[in-house]
Amino acid sequence: MRLILFGAPGVGKGTQSKLLVKALGIPQISTGDILRKAVANKTELGNKAKEFMNSGKLVPDTLILEMVKERIQQNDAQKGFILDGFPRTVPQAEGLDSMLAELNTDLDKVIQIGVPTEELLKRLINRRLCKNCGEEYNLIYKPIPESGNCNVCNESEFWHRPDDREEVVSQRNQEYINNTSPLIEFYSKKGKLVKVNGLQGIEDVSKNILNNLR
Ligand code: AMP
Repeated sequence: MRLILFGAPGVGKGTQSKLLVKALGIPQISTGDILRKAVANKTELGNKAKEFMNSGKLVPDTLILEMVKERIQQNDAQKGFILDGFPRTVPQAEGLDSMLAELNTDLDKVIQIGVPTEELLKRLINRRLCKNCGEEYNLIYKPIPESGNCNVCNESEFWHRPDDREEVVSQRNQEYINNTSPLIEFYSKKGKLVKVNGLQGIEDVSKNILNNLR
């Protein structure tokens, strides 16, 4: 199964991808995660991407397409994958179509998770991540445990992504409106788009997604 999880920053693509990985046994491919790792490791890609990311701008399509092409050809992605945070522009979506055609395959579905903008901003600004395992917390909806330790791995340090700061979050949302939202039409014309309400609990959103894949 080859899926795209689609939606504005903060709709829950990462959280839902992780549940789908367990349910479907295919890997999550998050371009944001790959880029953050590259930035942390100070690779050539990371150095090129850092400024764009910290200011909430999209990283240039050519860099992203090269990175995804390499990733989807790895062994674990042969039976399928869940794309999280990619494609984010029409040229990226066209590039993905060509890559998949070259590999004699195609996308199965594009799941669009919808959440109102005001709620998205609240989710992102209050998001905190475990420094060790990346488990997501939220100062409003899912506070860091009273023990001060992550309930998955016991780590005691948490971080606030630099691009989850209020001024950057607005820029990211604007990038979504300008560059990414045209993909809704792109994929509905192809008959691939399925809409899911992201304002429900995490488990309910996941059930809805899985029901749409049957
Ligand atoms: P994310 O974790 O998906 O919110 O991505 C964090 C940041 O990485 C974005 O704000 C962009 O700067 C960059 N990024 C991630 N995926 C892409 C993509 N497909 N195209 C361009 N930039 C991306």
